Amino acid sequence: MWKIRVPYKYKMLLWNLVREILPVGSILRKRIPFFDPMCMRCEYHLEDTVHVFGDCPNSCVFWSLIFKQFAYLKIDLQKFYNSNLSDWLSFNLANVSTWRIIFTVGIWHIWSARNMAVFEKKMLLIQSTFNKFLFYYHFSLTLTQGTIDRPSCSSNNSSRMWAPPQKGYHKLNTDGSWINVDNAGGRGVMRCEKGIWVSGYAMKFNAMTVASAELMAIREGLLRAWSKNIKFLELETYVDALTKMLKDPKSFEDGDLGNLIRDVASLLERDWTVQIFHTSRSVNLVADKLAYMGRTKFKAGECVPFTYPPADCFDLYATEIPDMVP
Ligand SMILES: [Zn+2]
Repeated sequence: MWKIRVPYKYKMLLWNLVREILPVGSILRKRIPFFDPMCMRCEYHLEDTVHVFGDCPNSCVFWSLIFKQFAYLKIDLQKFYNSNLSDWLSFNLANVSTWRIIFTVGIWHIWSARNMAVFEKKMLLIQSTFNKFLFYYHFSLTLTQGTIDRPSCSSNNSSRMWAPPQKGYHKLNTDGSWINVDNAGGRGVMRCEKGIWVSGYAMKFNAMTVASAELMAIREGLLRAWSKNIKFLELETYVDALTKMLKDPKSFEDGDLGNLIRDVASLLERDWTVQIFHTSRSVNLVADKLAYMGRTKFKAGECVPFTYPPADCFDLYATEIPDMVP
């Protein structure tokens, strides 16, 4: 179970689920007299663990969206919907590794929607829970691969290097970094088709999640490109879930992430051509370096523009200009 390649918080929840110690209604009623153990999401069933993650109509619809999206995995639905808790867990955790990741991230989003219903009295649309799931599923894939595949700066493997955009385009590379709500930053670098620095920025801000930090970095870069009257832009980000997410910005609830998604989506709808590409983090070293500076050297809310490449990352930048590569 600990070998599943997902961030730690997902594994912790799974661990609590396997040990059956999650504080669901049926368990709380045993400890707290007069506690109402009914499910807050459907309001007509006792809330036990199986109900929360499997039987609740909300969870059933959520899983059915997942099965539709990942139909090619051919998961045995008969077994999925008709097992007791321990068989159900073994069935899912012994499945192919892609499904184990989907399952683990899915469980987490069900639990988070359930907690929102219980503690904040807010019911998320199922489609919205699903979109969040999809985003974080892709995001955890990107992150786990990012850490493992990330080469050192001295790597001279040219296929991993930054490449100039197509003719007539500018290219924007962005990167968000996130340690916690008060310690997040973003940065971006825009270069012309010859690889020459057009503008850069590093900023420090408060962000709720790593996804919000990335989106804030992108929004700032798009605004700067627009103000420079650029009409053809390639946006390179290592978050490949972004494109999927931006296709349906209205399905996100109001809130930190949803508002940012709609902001970025509306910028993209302006009268210009922006092509979004997914890239590995390793081709984004200059933006990455600026992000680090943004997070460590500036005050929250500060955004520092760089008309020229700052000294700290000049060497990196120089190695990325195509004609200067030895
Ligand atoms: Zn229910």
